[in-house]
This record gives sequence, structure tokens and C-alpha cells, in this order.
Amino acid sequence: MQTNIEKIYDCTIIGGGLAGLCLSIQLAKAGYTVLLLEKNKYPFHKVCGEYISMESYDFISRLGLNLDELNLPKINQLNITAHNGFKIKSPLTLGGFGISRYTLDYELALIAKKSGVVLLENCPATNVAFQNTNYIVESTLGKFNSKLVCGSYGKIEPAFIKRETKKGDYIGIKYHIKTKFPTDLIELHNFKDGYCGISMVDNQTVCLCYLTTKKNLNNNNNDIKQLEKNTLMQNPYLKKYFEEAEFIFEKPLAISKIGFSKKETYQNGIVMLGDAAGAIAPLCGNGMSIAMRSSKILFEKIDLFFQNKLSKEELIDSYTREWNKNFSLRIKTGYYLQKLFGKYHTTLLSLRLLKHCPKLFEKLITLTHGDKF
Ligand SMILES: Cc1cc2nc3c(=O)[nH]c(=O)nc-3n(C[C@H](O)[C@H](O)[C@H](O)COP(=O)(O)OP(=O)(O)OC[C@H]3O[C@@H](n4cnc5c(N)ncnc54)[C@H](O)[C@@H]3O)c2cc1C
Repeated sequence: MQTNIEKIYDCTIIGGGLAGLCLSIQLAKAGYTVLLLEKNKYPFHKVCGEYISMESYDFISRLGLNLDELNLPKINQLNITAHNGFKIKSPLTLGGFGISRYTLDYELALIAKKSGVVLLENCPATNVAFQNTNYIVESTLGKFNSKLVCGSYGKIEPAFIKRETKKGDYIGIKYHIKTKFPTDLIELHNFKDGYCGISMVDNQTVCLCYLTTKKNLNNNNNDIKQLEKNTLMQNPYLKKYFEEAEFIFEKPLAISKIGFSKKETYQNGIVMLGDAAGAIAPLCGNGMSIAMRSSKILFEKIDLFFQNKLSKEELIDSYTREWNKNFSLRIKTGYYLQKLFGKYHTTLLSLRLLKHCPKLFEKLITLTHGDKF
């Protein structure tokens, strides 16, 4: 247990997912002292579709991860099916690439450590208190003193964040599978009250990840296998994967209580980024890029703050304005698209309409992707 609060970090970051790792690397490379607390130990798997919009490719490379060397699948085709197998296709103008969170978060964690970030693993933060002009961050490994605290703990709010947020009623399930699958394709298959994304990642592996409601699972005796048999496998494409692919994980990876909405960018003295500031519906496929882009925006503001060019209030104001300008429309688009999916008649009608209006289809896809940064 460390209780040395004599040492004062410039910034403590709570949560070492993409948002937290990317922010920590940028700050450390700019010469600031950074403490990053992560409750798990790298490398570890995460529920995520693992399709990253191409907008983030250059940014990740600039942080020091040579993506070209990893020879990752580049994805530029999208197929969507309705529950009954009705299919539409579209090219993805910007497109994306596939990499597992196991690999990506681990590689970024190595870069963070090399850049000078003090990265504590197996170390959940348990409280943040304001003391004199600094913050005392409490964790299972001790107390730490910091000038600034950022929250990048993801979708699930830690108990010490005292804000009213409605608990989400979605669950996410992920598998890695081995099956023959084109490297340039992402498939999105609808089923009753949910949808499932499938695309290639690194290591010749395919990621199969789906989102559905807690109610759907309850209606299937809280049994994931039963849920898959009774609902997902009604879609002929999904039936084929579940029957024929080799499933690598012993058990599915699952998370619950997921919701999608914009939250506050500042709470309890903590500046939020990534999903902690607002989670996008996964069908838009770009929560990871939003997390990384928010770290870039926040880094630029924090840098100005430490150079005394912005006060704390100005930092929060200008970060919040930029956050809204960059992400509000994408989060709203995701929210409305989410409503169209997983509903038998609405989904089928929407897909039929989009099949006849390919320009509208492409426009909708464009709204969910951002420019390169
Ligand atoms: C089913 C599903 C599919 C998705 N598919 C895609 C996709 O294909 N493409 C895409 O771009 N996005 C996708 N997303 C969204 C994407 O996963 C998130 O937007 C992204 O991971 C957000 O990154 P983050 O860094 O904010 O949070 P996270 O990656 O969730 O990281 C948060 C980190 O904080 C840690 N943590 C939590 N609490 C504490 C604490 N108290 N102390 C210390 N550490 C803590 C966690 O262990 C975790 O490592 C999907 C989401 C879901 C639910």
C-alpha cells in the first residue's frame, strides 16, 4: 500500500482503456508526470466489436504503435441482414481495420510505460477527494496526490462518482472464433431485440460480438446458450456461424447494464473522456475512435492549462464545447439508428428502403464516421 502523498502527479487518470491510455501517452510525451490506474491486468479481453474506424489509424501510429507492421485486416465492405436473412450491402468509404482489444490495449500499455507513465495494474480507484488545491485519489494500492484527475473508466460508473445516471438495460456478449471470413468485410446481423457484428481481427481470428436487451436474456431463463438458440440462430447467417465455426473462448465474455447517452464532461472535480463522457451505440462502430479523439482534444486543453494559458474553468468550458461539436451528432445518430435495429418489421422496412436508396445508406454510414485526426 502506497501512502506517499508528498509526490504530486500532474495528472492522474482513472481507467486504462483506449481513452485513458492514449491521454496518458500524450501527456507523458509532453513531459508531464502521469499516474494511470487500471483495475485489470494487461493483456485482457474486452466486450467490443473490435472494428476501428480508419479515422484513428494515423493517430495510433503517431502514438508509437506501428500498425502497418501488424498487417491488420482493412475493412471496406458492409453487409447488413434482417432477422429473416434479407441482405443489403454497401461499400464503406472511409472504412476501418480490425484489431483485438487484447492486443491493442496491451501494446498501448507498453508504450505508456516506455513513455514514463506510472501505470498501476490491478488497481481500481475507489475515491477522489479535493484537498487544499489538489486531489487525493484513493485506490486499492494506496492514496495518490494529483493536480488534475481525469475519468476514463468506461461505461460502468464507479460507485464514488455521485451522479444520477440511468442504468442501461443492454447486455454485450463477445466471442473470438475461427471460420473462413473475408478480411475486407464487416457483417451486421439483426435478430429479435439485438444485432451481432462480425469481422476479422489480428491473428487470423474473427470477432463475433452482439448486443441485446437484458429482457431478452431474462426471457431465455438467463441462459446465453438458450438466447442464442432461440433468437440469434433464427437469422440464417448467424445460425451458420454458431453451428459451424470454432469458438475459441471457453465461456462467452459478457457485460451488462450498458446504456448509451451523453453524460457530463466534468463531475466531482473529474474531467471525463471516452465512454465515461458518453457512450455511442456499438452499431455505429466508432466508440473506440471517439474515445481516442476525445483524448487528443483533452490533451491539447490540459497542455494549455499547465502552461497557464487556460484556467481550470476555461479548460472545462472549451473541452466541453469541442466535445459537443465533435460528438453530439454522432451519439444522437447512433441513438436513433439503434432504435431501427433489432425490431422485426422496422428493421426489415428500413433495410428495404436503404436497398433502394444506396446514397442515403452511404450518407448514414458517413454520419457515424469522423474525419481522420
Ligand atoms: C457490444 C459492444 C460492441 C462494441 N463494438 C465496437 C466496435 O466494433 N468499434 C468501436 O469503435 N467501438 C465499439 N464499442 C464501443 C467501445 O468498446 C467503447 O466505446 C470504447 O471501449 C471506449 O473506450 P474507453 O477507454 O472510454 O473505455 P473502456 O475501453 O471500457 O476502458 C475503461 C477502462 O477503465 C477500467 N476501469 C473501470 N473502472 C475503473 C476504476 N474504478 N479504477 C481503475 N480502472 C477502472 C476498465 O477496466 C477499463 O479497462 C462497442 C461497445 C459494445 C458494448
